Amino acid sequence: MIKANDPSLTSWVEVQKDSDFPIQNLPFGIVKTDQLKPRVASRIGDQIIDIKSLFILGYLDNLPFALEDFDCSSLNQLMKKGKRATSDLRNRLSKLFSDTNKDLKNNSHHVGQVLIPAEDIEMCMPVEIGDYTDFYSSRDHATNVGTMFRDPNNALLPNWLWIPVGYHGRASSIIPSGVPIKRPKGQIKPSDDADPVFASSKLLDFELEMAFITFDGKPLGDNISTKEAKDYIFGMCIMNDWSARDIQKWEYVPLGPFLAKSFASSISPWIVTMDALEPFAIEGPKQDPKVLSYLEYEGNHHYDINLEVGIQPENAEETIVCKSNYKHMYWNMVQQLAHHTVNGCNIRCGDMMASGTISGPTPESFGSMLEISWRGTKPVKMNNGSERKFIQDNDTVIMRGYCKNEHVRIGFGKVMTKVLPADE
Ligand code: MN
Repeated sequence: MIKANDPSLTSWVEVQKDSDFPIQNLPFGIVKTDQLKPRVASRIGDQIIDIKSLFILGYLDNLPFALEDFDCSSLNQLMKKGKRATSDLRNRLSKLFSDTNKDLKNNSHHVGQVLIPAEDIEMCMPVEIGDYTDFYSSRDHATNVGTMFRDPNNALLPNWLWIPVGYHGRASSIIPSGVPIKRPKGQIKPSDDADPVFASSKLLDFELEMAFITFDGKPLGDNISTKEAKDYIFGMCIMNDWSARDIQKWEYVPLGPFLAKSFASSISPWIVTMDALEPFAIEGPKQDPKVLSYLEYEGNHHYDINLEVGIQPENAEETIVCKSNYKHMYWNMVQQLAHHTVNGCNIRCGDMMASGTISGPTPESFGSMLEISWRGTKPVKMNNGSERKFIQDNDTVIMRGYCKNEHVRIGFGKVMTKVLPADE
């Protein structure tokens, strides 16, 4: 077992019972305040751990890191050091903050420099993302979309059970929680016999997804096997992969998504490491037909992560519209990464790969408004009496995720995004 995952560990920093951030989590992110420049941080309970200060004060000796790995505005430098180094760093944090260790605890002057109340900081974009890939790996989601737009009897396209289908997305418009987006504009074709018009999207939607972030890969021309893939994945966050369904419908033929997707994707700001998620690895679904040999895998690479989506209209309370789980994925991360690189495509430190919309088998677990409202035919009742088919101006969409067993809860926090009206 990874030392930092020991469920019996407790911290001298107070952690509320239902916190997403017990000592067994220790995610990584970038924080700043009015006084402090962006820096690498972690979190325990409601306290931010300033890792840059920890390093300066000498608590991270004998680890393969330098000041510039923590004194920066992204986690990329840290991730450049690879799996072993980042695991060791998390284990060191665990040791320093565990009840049994007095090194830091007994130095109140240092504690005051290292811990910052979470409400006093601003979370920044955690990673400088090089390339962004979006998969389409939830069978229920692909089946729902195929049923709606094609043929209920042949909902999955013939390639779907053979290939972890994906496309190359846009990295520049990935933003952290809290950054509002503007309703996008584009070409929309109102009906089959009308010409397209230029207008703001009427069918703005969220996609409930999880994303993983990679370490440096192999040189161009090499591939990463399913057996090796885990060593190339740093951690995960929640992603809201915004989609404009009306723009998408007109533009996607024949090359796939373009402007309907590239205007924004929002992520939760803490990267929860694969180490911390290890206790929640579970077996995946039986894959039939049997996959080609390069997609075969050993061990458990699916994860039991509870997910939910809420919509909060302006000046009203939030309504939960979806409760799903990452375990519903058909293709897992090691298969996605093996497939991504099987042609020799090189991945780089800081690439982001998203799951695709995560829908479960029941309507409560559908991961987009397209499915929840079934193309707008079944409006959703909100707690304030209004209805939603898609996302309206000034709505805030909130996604949360956490793993939980009888011993610990490991959470991701949330990704929360307000939709502003389109420009005039
Ligand atoms: Mn997507």
